[in-house]
Amino acid sequence: MAGVYDYLPLGLLTLNNINRVIREEMNSIGSQEILLSTLQNQELWSATNRWQDDQVDVWFKTELRTGTSVGLGFTHEEPLTNLLRDHVNSYRDLPFSTYQIQTKFRNETRAKSGIMRGREFLMKDMYSFSKNEEEHNVFYENAKRAYLKVFGRLGLGQKTYVTFAAGGSFSKYSHEFQTLTSAGEDTISICDKCHVAVNKEIIADQPNCPVCGGNLSHEEKGVEVGNIFSLGTRFSDILGLNFVDEGGQKKAVVMGCYGIGPSRLMGTIIELNSNESSVVWPREVAPFDVHIIEILGKEGEEIRSAGEGLYDALKRAGVDVLYDDRNISAGEKFADADLIGIPVRVVIGRKYLEKGVIEVNERDNGKEQEVLLKDVDSLVEALQK
Ligand code: ATP
Ligand code: MG
Repeated sequence: MAGVYDYLPLGLLTLNNINRVIREEMNSIGSQEILLSTLQNQELWSATNRWQDDQVDVWFKTELRTGTSVGLGFTHEEPLTNLLRDHVNSYRDLPFSTYQIQTKFRNETRAKSGIMRGREFLMKDMYSFSKNEEEHNVFYENAKRAYLKVFGRLGLGQKTYVTFAAGGSFSKYSHEFQTLTSAGEDTISICDKCHVAVNKEIIADQPNCPVCGGNLSHEEKGVEVGNIFSLGTRFSDILGLNFVDEGGQKKAVVMGCYGIGPSRLMGTIIELNSNESSVVWPREVAPFDVHIIEILGKEGEEIRSAGEGLYDALKRAGVDVLYDDRNISAGEKFADADLIGIPVRVVIGRKYLEKGVIEVNERDNGKEQEVLLKDVDSLVEALQK
């Protein structure tokens, strides 16, 4: 089916690495990880007017044997707000934030961009809960910075723009994070002075750069890899998420929500780091650090045992290694290695027999060198930098 994807071992390692980067950055701003249920009760979503098909058209709906209508969650403001009524009472409980990395379901009309637009996909969705707008804004800015760190670590920093977009239910804008690629479905206008853009959808209301007043001089195609919103008290008002402030007054909690698409990011990273026959993953997310290609030739046993020694030494040093010891041609091994996309490739073969060296090719920066196998420590050191 279009929009439905399975992840095999190498792809899953990469996806999990993307999730690790996101986790580290969300944890670093004090957010706590949770995991909410996919199954959503109609009643709760009717209360906020987000159940009916004319309000939300992406639900996958079904029912329990008892006849209760349920849907597969496409976002989680409602259940989390509802849940937190049991945990938030006083101003002392605020502020805090929580996130999950969870499978979302959306019955998308067009699912034609591979894993960049799934009908079942991973989302990191974070939510913040504050006493007032001021406190909310502090967290919102922290989250924005954490997002930029994530995209930087994934090698997308240069090409990713904070983009002013519609959709803040409490503020004038939401902020999207748009990465430039022809595979993107959005059009953004980029400021000629600062690293900021405006989504074309709102350009009529915002003809100049909202940050520096510069000209929005040129349009580019982008993919929305993240989106953060100020929600105000929209959900807490309806669902009754209140707290008692310092003066004993009951108030609605001020909320924000912050989404990133790990699976969409994986597709975006490929778009930016591949051609028809090869991929080079950024080191942070590569499925392995080093790919050893063994080319046995006649003196096979000697090469095999040296290669295995190298494998063990690297593993002991904490380097993640994929060792290609398959009984196939060198050409096939190289072609596969190009597609698997591990950034550092090591060949052990004829040159080892001739002069005791392995060939090290750092595919991401073009550096190629011969390293004496007995100097593997220096290789490890170089890779850890
Ligand atoms: P789009 O406009 O591309 O449909 P959206 O604005 O509906 O996305 P949000 O509700 O803001 O998406 O979701 C938060 C993040 O989840 C998005 O920024 C994106 O990275 C990711 N995401 C959303 N929909 C999908 C999808 N169908 N497949 C993969 N990732 C998605
Ligand atoms: Mg969005």
